[in-house]
Amino acid sequence: MRFNQYKFVQELKLNLENLGFRKPTDIQYKAIPPILKGEDVLAIAQTGTGKTAAFAIPVIQLLSSKKIRTEEYMTRCLIMVPTHELAIQVANVFVDLTKGMNLHILGLFGGVEQAPQIERLKKGVDVLVATPGRMFDLASQGFLSFKGVEILILDEADHMLELGFISDMQQLIKRIPKRRQTLFFTATINEHIKDLAYGLVNHAVRIHISPKDPVSKNIDHAVAYVEMDDKRFFLEHFIKDNPESKVLVFVRTKVRAERVAKALERVELASQTIHGSKDQNERSKAMKDFKDGSNRILIATDVSARGIDIPSVDFVINYDLPDVVENYVHRVGRTGRGVKRGVAISFCSKEEKGVLLEIEEFLGKPISVMAINQDEYEATVDFSEESEHDWKSLLKEQNTYEASPKAKKSKKKKKI
Ligand code: ADP
Ligand code: MG
Repeated sequence: MRFNQYKFVQELKLNLENLGFRKPTDIQYKAIPPILKGEDVLAIAQTGTGKTAAFAIPVIQLLSSKKIRTEEYMTRCLIMVPTHELAIQVANVFVDLTKGMNLHILGLFGGVEQAPQIERLKKGVDVLVATPGRMFDLASQGFLSFKGVEILILDEADHMLELGFISDMQQLIKRIPKRRQTLFFTATINEHIKDLAYGLVNHAVRIHISPKDPVSKNIDHAVAYVEMDDKRFFLEHFIKDNPESKVLVFVRTKVRAERVAKALERVELASQTIHGSKDQNERSKAMKDFKDGSNRILIATDVSARGIDIPSVDFVINYDLPDVVENYVHRVGRTGRGVKRGVAISFCSKEEKGVLLEIEEFLGKPISVMAINQDEYEATVDFSEESEHDWKSLLKEQNTYEASPKAKKSKKKKKI
């Protein structure tokens, strides 16, 4: 079935066509009808399968078919997301899909001035895409009321119901009218979170695509055994071997992100970093430069693991394994999006073997191993332009593994 066969308002059909969306993806095909009927939905589908449009399309159809005047400081649809970048990205999808429709969309997040946001809220909006911090801040100042919310959506729902966010979400739900539609969208879920989600809704329709393998079939992923001190040489070699490619490198902490960037700089490789210590302007610039290709190496913490849609990321490198197991799925899911294929390689040191086992347990199968023989290994370390200096011994002390080597299953909000 093609989008032009759906009973959507004309402008929505036109916008879909202009975006090059001709037919729905699996999750869109399954989620659109129940959402249009007003049902609550828990939707689980792999990374990069078009979950944003799976809720945006029917929500826009619903909002535009009963257009009411937006009221001061209110929103009709509220979408909760975990990061600034996702608030911007999801709001942009709504903006693209509502061109010419007179629906008001606002992305709301911290780290920027609040005055322009208040200005927009004053007139009321149809769709508000928000991170919890700034949203509650403005609500407590009286610039946002939840009374008019008809539809509540949790994107990255499992994360929004975890320890770091759950009390915010419970508080929010108490303030939203009982007669509302609630939608959860996620790529990963566990039984505990599932129970929590069901506890918040009535008879939710559950849609589960490809439940067996949480990693998208568009992603070839493998693990390479590389010792902690040698990781930078392998990264350097990999980047120099793939001079045209866009590479997203994940590390465990902000400090390590900066260190890896410095190490690359020493061998004349330009890169940028994105993490929670950067201000919003720097984060936005890093994201923009990576998207438009003016920078092709982005070093990120898990703050960028979820949801970010950059269609042309060729490789994800897990320079460090993630210490929250499901983030493996989210990190590798930054490549192989839509119809594109992608490759993800994880560097695993001796200290991280336990974490690797936990990730494999979470995935329900082993990750294939990229064999590196001794000669290749030594050649890679020798290849480095760093080896002519005595960086290795110098870096050794800096590079001690600061991790708790066990992966955490339950997590608190971490500063990343
Ligand atoms: P997810 O939230 O499932 O990880 P996104 O919603 O970010 O995935 O979408 C992934 C990519 O797929 C985006 O670049 C989006 O523009 C594209 N996409 C979504 N739906 C369609 C469609 N029906 N046809 C073509 N491309 C699509
Ligand atoms: Mg998404």
